[in-house]
Amino acid sequence: MRRDTENKQSPILLTPGPLNTSAATKQAMLRDWGSRDDEFIALTAGIRRRLVEIVHGEPDYLAVPIQGSGTFALEAALGTLLGPRDKLLVLSNGAYGGRLGRIAAILGRAHAMLDHAEAAPLDPAWLEKALASDAAITHVAAVHCETSSGMLNPIGEIAKVCARHNRRLLVDAMSSLGAVPIDAGAWAADAIVSSANKCLEGVPGLAFALVRRGALEAAKGQSPSLSLDLYGQWQGFEANGQWRFTPPTHAVAALHQALSEFAAEGGVAGRGKRYGENHRVLVAGMRGLGFETFLPDECQAPTIVAFRQPKGFDFPRFYDAMRARGFVVYPGSLTEQPTFRIGCMGRIDADDIRAALAAVAESLKAIG
Ligand SMILES: *Cc1c(COP(=O)(O)O)cnc(C)c1O
Repeated sequence: MRRDTENKQSPILLTPGPLNTSAATKQAMLRDWGSRDDEFIALTAGIRRRLVEIVHGEPDYLAVPIQGSGTFALEAALGTLLGPRDKLLVLSNGAYGGRLGRIAAILGRAHAMLDHAEAAPLDPAWLEKALASDAAITHVAAVHCETSSGMLNPIGEIAKVCARHNRRLLVDAMSSLGAVPIDAGAWAADAIVSSANKCLEGVPGLAFALVRRGALEAAKGQSPSLSLDLYGQWQGFEANGQWRFTPPTHAVAALHQALSEFAAEGGVAGRGKRYGENHRVLVAGMRGLGFETFLPDECQAPTIVAFRQPKGFDFPRFYDAMRARGFVVYPGSLTEQPTFRIGCMGRIDADDIRAALAAVAESLKAIG
């Protein structure tokens, strides 16, 4: 499961995405498809079915892929599932939680933010209080893995509070789906949103929402957008198996291949194991070099790690030194502290992480 070493031009992407993909996934794009061909319709049906299986969503959940990056699918989900009389409560402990609030604001949907500290997991007791004190709230939105810090939020507990108060749950599972177990039925979420180019190791170009059938059926005509309407998109697939508007054909084919490799690796358990190993090697090595993680280990997801920037650390120079050695690291997006991020996702393994750690040591020397 090491990186695609045949492709010498590709850097190793230690980022929140896009990520390294396998040679076979890139190979799958080396032909053209007609969007109305039976063959392409079968590819689409295949990925829709397998995406639902990843969250054990049969028969209640439907996969609705949408053209674009992950944010397009989040915007489609919120726009489609929130009605003009609904009110959304966003639980946030980082940049991606904040983005959910911005989407609701731009869509003109009533919403409130429940902001947490960036180093604190979402708190079910706070949610309990917020729901008890505001009967207008119909929906709750939260991020499973908050990619700005690497926090793995306790969505299972959040879901229980929502169920007790009879509110609907919408989950951004962008950087967890495929590597962290998700049981759609246990969460009883109305929507779980993710994209092709994170833990599923497809290429950028499409994202998807896994939506509870009843929630989707009730959402007809609710979206203020034509292209970002999950109901309309679903009706298109129902009618003839085709995408309503030009599909990202090559990205669909790549995801189809990536999902076969995902199954061959042992699904969520296998992928979670490889990322977990990447993560353990990374954190142990970085600590050995004197770095500290932003989060305590117990709430850290195995997908991306935020490290505190030491005093006087020159991140742009560190970035350039790492890039010159073939590795792409990522700036931080936390507001409480200067951090930078190193990802553990994509088609890389622990040997790649060891190589990255050697590059970190060299880069530190190079930049003084
Ligand atoms: C990657 C990511 C997104 C989507 O970002 P795009 O740049 O639109 O793909 C949303 N939420 C989280 C938690 C993410 O990690």
